[in-house]
Amino acid sequence: MRVTVIDRNQELAGASSGNAGFVSPAHCVPLPEPNLLKYGLRAIFTPGSPVCVPLRGDLRRAKFLFEMAGHCTSAAWHRAMWAYSPLNALAIGAYDAQRDGGVIADFTTADLVSGFRDPRDASGLFEEFGGVVDAGQSVGIELLTADEVHRLEPHLSSAIRFGVLLRDQRFVTPRTYGKALSQSVSDRGGEIIEHSLVSEVVRIGNRVVARTLARDFDADAIVLANGAWVSELAGPHGVRVPVYAGRGYSFTVPIDSPLKRPVHFPGSRLGITPDGNRVRVVGVMEFDEPDAPLRRSRINSMIRGLKPLITGVDWDERSDDWVGPRPLTSDGMPIIGETATPGIYVASGHGMWGMTLGPVTGQLLAEEIATGRTPIEIAPFSALR
Ligand SMILES: Cc1cc2nc3c(=O)[nH]c(=O)nc-3n(C[C@H](O)[C@H](O)[C@H](O)COP(=O)(O)OP(=O)(O)OC[C@H]3O[C@@H](n4cnc5c(N)ncnc54)[C@H](O)[C@@H]3O)c2cc1C
Repeated sequence: MRVTVIDRNQELAGASSGNAGFVSPAHCVPLPEPNLLKYGLRAIFTPGSPVCVPLRGDLRRAKFLFEMAGHCTSAAWHRAMWAYSPLNALAIGAYDAQRDGGVIADFTTADLVSGFRDPRDASGLFEEFGGVVDAGQSVGIELLTADEVHRLEPHLSSAIRFGVLLRDQRFVTPRTYGKALSQSVSDRGGEIIEHSLVSEVVRIGNRVVARTLARDFDADAIVLANGAWVSELAGPHGVRVPVYAGRGYSFTVPIDSPLKRPVHFPGSRLGITPDGNRVRVVGVMEFDEPDAPLRRSRINSMIRGLKPLITGVDWDERSDDWVGPRPLTSDGMPIIGETATPGIYVASGHGMWGMTLGPVTGQLLAEEIATGRTPIEIAPFSALR
């Protein structure tokens, strides 16, 4: 197939450019669950909390949160988890297929550590892994004493008294990986058109057309993979699942010796990923428009949350402050498949886990476009559900 990628920014923009880079199928679970409702309500009214809803009238957001609340039941979570599990099982293999196809980027195997101040704080994570295993996905974990955690990752401070090691996950550096991906598209004859906003996609006769200010692009098939902005283009084609931005923040800081593995602090909803002689710090879930400005106060809250948990970091040399919109759906499932208009497809709504599930989504959707048959692993994520 001849491929053209059109982006309103550069090829490396949006949520994919500054995230944590965990490729961790064991963590790919639906976001709406009963505890989210309790936690979310408390967090909204707590200043400096990692979950925030900036105050302003926004009917679309209110509707989204109301619908998401409706999916925060145990039954809905388990149903969605059964849908995720077969897709999750193919996630790492899809990265390997990209590497074999010429995407030259580091794709590092690592055991991820979750660090806790108190073993009782891990009950939510255990419950989540229980649901993942119940849906048929295997998860290899090991419980770590305080000594074991600090031996494995000496940068964790003495405040961390308990750890959970999650075996055989991977991580990437998002920018390096993104560059390798676009290089591979160009090397194989694909075209990447930057700074070109698609204002509309339509079907005309037996072709589909993407309209930009400069020109129209006509094609046999169009995939709308524009993250948290997808609803505007996909809505006219029968896609009703609400998508809203759950904005996350990141920055990098130098560290006195390389971090050995990605670390996740579920208690404060922060993560850190090795990035050479620096670490990338990620966190926050801010429900707001995808293009709202970066709020410095969120970065300051992340620093306050993380300072007591890690050592050896030079906080004064912070750089790369970044905010990006996770494309959240109200039912916590991605949107993958053909719309009501033949030839127009969607690949979006991956929420917290689009880095992990991006390659497998592309692989299976390409199969659908090429053969006209929907692979069973993406059937539950239909764009017309
Ligand atoms: C802080 C943070 C940490 C995260 N950590 C992880 C992690 O560790 N592991 C993981 O698996 N996932 C993680 N995620 C989630 C992951 O980043 C997202 O799910 C994923 O990047 C979404 O990819 P996307 O391609 O759908 O959207 P995006 O990456 O946002 O890309 C959408 C693109 O569409 C373009 N665009 C928008 N509208 C138009 C238009 N009209 N015309 C042309 N172009 C347009 C934008 O410029 C953008 O480049 C994290 C997210 C955040 C914010």
